[in-house]
Parts: sequence; C-alpha cells; structure tokens
Amino acid sequence: MSHVTIFKNCRAFCPENGLSDDEFLGCFVVEGNKFTHVGYDTDEEVQAAKLQGAQVIDLKNQVAVPGFIDSHTHFLLFGLALQKLDLSDCKCFQDIERAISGYAKEHPELSRILCRGWHQPSTSGEAFASMIDHIDARPIFIEALDLHSTWCNTCALKEMGVETIPDPPGGKIHRTEDGSPSGLMEESAQTGIVWPHLMNISTVEERLTALKDALAAYLESGYTGLIDMAMDSTAWEALRLLREHQHVPLHVAAHWYIPFTDNKDELSEYIDEAIAKHSEFHPSTSPEFCVVGIKIIADGVVDGCTAALSHPYSGVSPGTVDPIWPLESMKWVVKRASDAGLQVAIHAIGDITIKNAIDSIDFASNPQGRHRIEHLELASVDDAKRLGELGITASIQPVHSDPVLTKAYPKILQPHLWDRVFPYREYLDGHACVAIGTDAPTAKHLPLPNLYNATTRKSALDPGSSQATNPDGAISLIQAAIAATSGAAYSRFAEGWTGSITKGHRADFVVLETEWTSETLLNATVQQTWALGEKVFDQKMAT
Ligand SMILES: [Zn+2]
Repeated sequence: MSHVTIFKNCRAFCPENGLSDDEFLGCFVVEGNKFTHVGYDTDEEVQAAKLQGAQVIDLKNQVAVPGFIDSHTHFLLFGLALQKLDLSDCKCFQDIERAISGYAKEHPELSRILCRGWHQPSTSGEAFASMIDHIDARPIFIEALDLHSTWCNTCALKEMGVETIPDPPGGKIHRTEDGSPSGLMEESAQTGIVWPHLMNISTVEERLTALKDALAAYLESGYTGLIDMAMDSTAWEALRLLREHQHVPLHVAAHWYIPFTDNKDELSEYIDEAIAKHSEFHPSTSPEFCVVGIKIIADGVVDGCTAALSHPYSGVSPGTVDPIWPLESMKWVVKRASDAGLQVAIHAIGDITIKNAIDSIDFASNPQGRHRIEHLELASVDDAKRLGELGITASIQPVHSDPVLTKAYPKILQPHLWDRVFPYREYLDGHACVAIGTDAPTAKHLPLPNLYNATTRKSALDPGSSQATNPDGAISLIQAAIAATSGAAYSRFAEGWTGSITKGHRADFVVLETEWTSETLLNATVQQTWALGEKVFDQKMAT
C-alpha cells in the first residue's frame, strides 16, 4: 500500500459536510490520484491504512483547501504577459526610456520589444509613438498596468496595419489631427487588435514557453484547474501541444470565443466551429481538457466608458452607450449554442447589458444548461435575483472591485449604480451558483488576494487604505472559498470529480499557512499544491 498517503493533523476545509466556518476535518487519505477517505485521525479507515503501511504526512495543523479553480482566465495571454519587460517600478518617462533601452540592448535576438506594467500617470497619461520611436528600431508595445490599453511606437503601428482601419466597436485607436494613429490603442483596440496580433506573430516555441511559465505560476499559486474564457484555435493548439510535451496536472475547460458580427452566416460559421470543437473535446469523454461552450463579449468596461448603462457616463458624453451585441443577435446566438448543448458565457458589465444577457439566456429556456454571465458589475436588484431563478452562474472577478481600480467609478456612474456596484451577496441571496475567477492577465492571477477583495471589499493593491467598494456586496470567507473551488467546478459540470475534498474526487488540494480569516488573507501563503495526488509545488523547495 505504498501508494496510499494519510494526511493527518490538518484543518481540512470541507463545507459540504455541514461544518461551520471555523470547523474543519482533521485527516484525509489519498490513494493514487483520488481521495479515498475524509474524516479524522481516529477513523477506522485511517487506522487500517496505517496498519497496511500507508505513508503518513503530518500537516502540522495547517489549513487544507480544495485546489483552486480559476473560473475566468486567459491562460496563454497570461503566460505571454509573464515574458514581457516589467515597467511597473518606473516612476517617470525617463525611467521607462532607460528600462526599455537597456532591455533592447541586452536582447538583440528579439524581433520586437514587449513591455507591461506602464502606469499611465508616470507619463501624465501621454502616450505618443513619437516619444518612443528613438529608443529602438524594432516594434515596441507597452501595455498599461490596467491592461486596458497599449502604447505603440510607429513601427508597431505599421506592423499591425492600423493606419487604414476604423475604430472597432468599444475601442479607440488614438489619432493625430490628420487622422493617422498616434500611438495609443485603447479598450477593444487593444483586446481585438493588439492582443490577437501579438498572439498570431508569436512562434509555436514562444507560446509553449509561455504556457509552461503560466502553468508553473498557477501551480505555485494553488490552482489545480481553470476555465479559459476566450479560446481560439491558436491558443487551443498551443495547449494541446503542451499536453503532448509534458504532464499537465491542471484541468482545463474552455469557452470558444465568438466575435460580434451582424452577418448571420459568419456567426453560424463561428458557432459551428465551436460545436465541432465541443464534440471533439467533449466534457464527457475528455473532462480534464475540454471545450464546454462559447463566450461572447457583450459590452466593454466602466473605466473606458464602454459598458452599456441605463444613463450616460457623467461628464463624458450626452448619450448612452449601446451594448456591442444588440439584443436580437444575442438571443439568436445564445439559443443556437444552447440548443447544441453548449454552455454560454456572456461578458456583461453595465446594467443594460446584464439585463439583455439574462433575457437572452431566459429566451434559450434551458435552465439546466449552466449558462453564465461574466463580471456582473452593475446588476439591478431584480436582475441579481433572476440569476438564481434561471440557473445562471454568477462568474465574478473580485480583484476587479479593488478600490484602487474603481477610483473613477463614482465620477462617471450615477449614485444608484455606484452605491450597489459588484453586488455579490445578492447573487448568493438569490441562490445563484457563484464562481470566482481572476480574469488574468487583466488582473493578478493570485487566489488569496482575490478572496480578500471578495470578503473585505478593501484593497489588496493598497493594503494600507481603509477604503472599501460597496461593503454591502461582500460575501463571507466560507462563501468565497466555495465559489473559488466547488462553485467553479459546478459552473463547468465538474462537481462530481473535483472542487472539494471528497471521497472519490481527484486528490487536488492546497496546504495554506493562514489564520483563515478575511482580514489576514493577504498574509496567507500557499505552502504546497497537490494535484491528482501528486505534490506539484512545495514552498520549501522553491528558490
Ligand atoms: Zn476575460
């Protein structure tokens, strides 16, 4: 029985056993890649395993939680972001200039210079190609810290061929007076032009390296699964290749991205591609690497004044902003995907878009389909209730509610929306499944600061500040931990085999050094990550 391991003297988080917030189980047994017993050291099963020579690991009273599942991430983009020059320490333009120029000299082998972490105030918000053209002759792409825009040099703008194209819906290509691009690509000009461009020109080796880095970062952070929220064939192929190259202990479920077009034939083609991928990588035959559904992006973000609200953005423009997907198209695409047995995920942030998304899912009339809405920042009281009634998963990214990131909200939102922003508690009160994700790389991928945001509504980015974003929307630590594990598993029909420390489930768990209170989550650390019964990260071995 050498492949049996007893994990004793732990505080195992097993809420499905009806334990209260501060109650834990003390012991569990893993055989091969599964949990075979969950209970206490004194249980008969544990004694029997001991007698038969099982290995015993003393977890020294540390907390063990199920492996985290990032319910909304962009895994390849996250890995590619890790490879970029980090400018987040640069305080002024001269710092940026110096950092890029040094990096460019050190890396003559690179065909372009990719940077991240540019803090816009460090250049007083100025981002012209002409400011950086002299640094290097190669294309330079500088991604903003908030990931809502990229600052490009002239060579990069030329490489993307943006001189002749109009602004995409929900995005802006900043221009000089004569109409030519001036350097800044904002919102969907970034997500719809810059990111796909960089993805397409990256080599297969670069993508593989990016995924290996992303995998290591996720295992180190305590993840044993993820839901990738805008899959395309390039990223899927890279993931497939990674699994050929090495053992990937993370389980992956993907939502295939369907871009908006008002041409029904084109839309049909996109959906047919998603349907084909879904049947090829079906959750019933390939649960740990599957395509579960589609993803559509129905509006933008509040900061960029591109989320569709019931009122105009204060001080920005007199009119209201429309959703990217008109209601009729959304209904059509949701019903087609739902009828084909696919799960639907809809990015919806503004109150108008959220209502349209719920109406569209209602129209598809498949409450067992576990359709989901991503972000849900500004749901009305009624719409917050409808999620649970219609079986819709509330897919939330608490890291986006960090007070540092919502500073502009009260200036542009009317009080009736701002006062109840990110109403997570209402989603739970309405009995919706809540699943927590990070939306990496648009925000940090770490699970524990994300739980801190969800439960305290205070800032993980500026822990000294006492500011909180709509504290009434907070959920409890136990609710948040469930949403980040079994809630996320349920959201992709995986609750039968992962997401909790349960007999028969994949032995996925994380050992945390923590006081297990909301207020102390920022000091909590991941000590070990175990996936499929194997230790895949150990803090003690980390350098
Ligand atoms: Zn996303």
